[in-house]
Amino acid sequence: MKNSSRSFLIAVSLLIVSFTPACVHHACCSKATSARMLGKTDPRRSSPDAALAALKEGNARFVNGKTAHACNIQRVAATAQGQYPLASVIGCADSRTPPEVIFDLGIGELFVCRVAGVASEINDVASLEYGAEHLGSPLIVVMGHTQCGAMKAALADEPLPGSLPHLMDAIRPAVERARAAHPKANASTLLAAATREQVQGEIRQLLKSPVLHELVVTGKLKIVGAIYSVEDGTMTWL
Ligand SMILES: [Zn+2]
Repeated sequence: MKNSSRSFLIAVSLLIVSFTPACVHHACCSKATSARMLGKTDPRRSSPDAALAALKEGNARFVNGKTAHACNIQRVAATAQGQYPLASVIGCADSRTPPEVIFDLGIGELFVCRVAGVASEINDVASLEYGAEHLGSPLIVVMGHTQCGAMKAALADEPLPGSLPHLMDAIRPAVERARAAHPKANASTLLAAATREQVQGEIRQLLKSPVLHELVVTGKLKIVGAIYSVEDGTMTWL
C-alpha cells in the first residue's frame, strides 16, 4: 500500500473512532458540565416540568438509538459524595423496563423503586417521600408497561403459590375497575385498561401521603403516570 493511501486510511479510522463513543450525544462526559449537571442546581431539577422534559428527551434518545451510557463511569466519582436525582420513578420489576436505560439517564440521575405490577407498599411510599422531600426530586413517574405479567396474572385470576396472592390482592382493584369500565372489551383492551387503572390508582395512593401531597400543592412536585411500550421503547404519558 502506498504511504499516501495508508495515511488516508489511518485518518479515516481516527475520524470514525472519534465519533464512535456513545457519549457523543450527551453532555455528561465533559468535566465542566458533569459537575453542573449532577448538582443541586442542575437546571433539569429546577421544576417538575423541566424534569419531565428531560425524561421525554432521554426517552427520545433511547428510541432513536442515540444513548449515552458510556458516561456512567465518570458519574461514579461525580456522585460519590451525594445524589441529586432529577426525578423518581416507581415502575414494574419486569426485566424489560429499567428506568435509567429507557430514559437514557446515568448514575445519580434517577431515584428508582421497582415492584411487580407497580403495586407499591408503605416502604415504597417512604422511599419516594425520601426522594422528593430529602433529595429534592421534583417529579415522580408512576410507570406501568405493556404486556405486564403481573397484570395478566391478576386478569387470569388463577391460584398462585407463595406470596403471589398478596401481590394479586394489591392489583385486583385496578382489574375490577377496568372490567366495570369496559364490560365487553377483549383481552388486550382489558389488559391495557387495567394497566392504566393500576397506574392511576397508584398515583391516588401516593397523593394520600401527607409529605407528597404537601409538595404537590406547593408546586414543588408533580406525580405523573406513564405506560412504557415493551414493543417499541416509547412512553405514553397519561
Ligand atoms: Zn410488569
